Amino acid sequence: MTKPAKRTRTIELSQIRKMFEITNPNAINLGIGEPDFNVPENIKKAMIQSINDNDTHYTPNKGYIELREEIVKKFKKDNGIKTDPENIIVTVGASEALYMCAQAFIEKGDEVILPNPSFLSYEACINLADGKITPVNCKMENEFKLKASDVEEKINKNTKAIILNSPSNPTGAVMEKEDIKSIADLSMDNDFLIISDEIYEKIIYDKKHYSPAKWSDNVITLNGFSKTYAMTGLRIGYLNANEELCEELLKIHQYNIACATTTSQRGALEALRGPQDEVEKMIAEFKKRRNLIVKRLNEMGYETVNAEGAFYVFPKIEDENFVQNAAKAGVITVPGAAFGSNGKGHVRMSYANSYENIKKAMNILEENIPNGRN
Ligand code: PMP
Repeated sequence: MTKPAKRTRTIELSQIRKMFEITNPNAINLGIGEPDFNVPENIKKAMIQSINDNDTHYTPNKGYIELREEIVKKFKKDNGIKTDPENIIVTVGASEALYMCAQAFIEKGDEVILPNPSFLSYEACINLADGKITPVNCKMENEFKLKASDVEEKINKNTKAIILNSPSNPTGAVMEKEDIKSIADLSMDNDFLIISDEIYEKIIYDKKHYSPAKWSDNVITLNGFSKTYAMTGLRIGYLNANEELCEELLKIHQYNIACATTTSQRGALEALRGPQDEVEKMIAEFKKRRNLIVKRLNEMGYETVNAEGAFYVFPKIEDENFVQNAAKAGVITVPGAAFGSNGKGHVRMSYANSYENIKKAMNILEENIPNGRN
């Protein structure tokens, strides 16, 4: 076989996907990282219409201007960020935006502060760019919320960037306003970049989301339509950054994918312009499920934080065979260690599955797995 490049050899394919492939197809999947809802009808209609209108040609590299204008309005309304369509790039999901950040700004010798545990792609993107990871633990005693004081300890002259993800995958933690603001201040004082992945921004319960870009100019804000509008397969996201940062990011985007898909861009435009009641319904449903899964896990004796956002819980489960035994019994979960060393002794459970299935899954666990009370 052709020898892969060193950068490819440093990373592995996702173990999570592999696990889904080998487990029982009838098992209840609490391993999944995408909403179980369908794309709202108004968005589907807009996409169908765009094809019928032959809206299938290249768009500007940064994306349709109408869409970028709408994203600017969204940033102002939801995040208190004043920006301009020229500072927005529409991307192929937040995934592409993340990759662009790493490729445009990280190189050998650069340190990137990374919450531990965190979303798997962060580590891979940093490795692909030859950067060095400086982990910072998100502690259960702090409900897994990243603390500015813990971040401050890790800053040195090689610190190039930090990745923030609130609400968090895999813990569901929502960072406190004061920590986000303090980290934003640190980024200005110490001249490092904040890559703020806000993809779960809207999936948040009784809590407010804050964007560091409100307080610092050294921020690239990533967001997308996958989670809020259940548009995962349509691969559409966006980023906001100041003019200088945006120009460098555009180089990676332009020569990699040219522009995001026309159909998805039209869907995204409708998602932002249209009614938001489907989103509200989805969040209300997620909240009901969160309450159920936390209650049931706690009843079984698994210590579980009442996660304030995203659609994951991260109970403390020290039994090393739990994930395997749960899968055999018919419930798929993901070992916390997959998200970083500090995830060891925890299991990620996604509640992007129906209320009924979550109920059933909890009963299966209760009946089949020796629990924390024993
Ligand atoms: N960031 C986080 C934290 C995620 O969980 C995911 C999806 N699992 C992404 C980014 C990627 O989202 P997209 O579909 O927009 O590429």
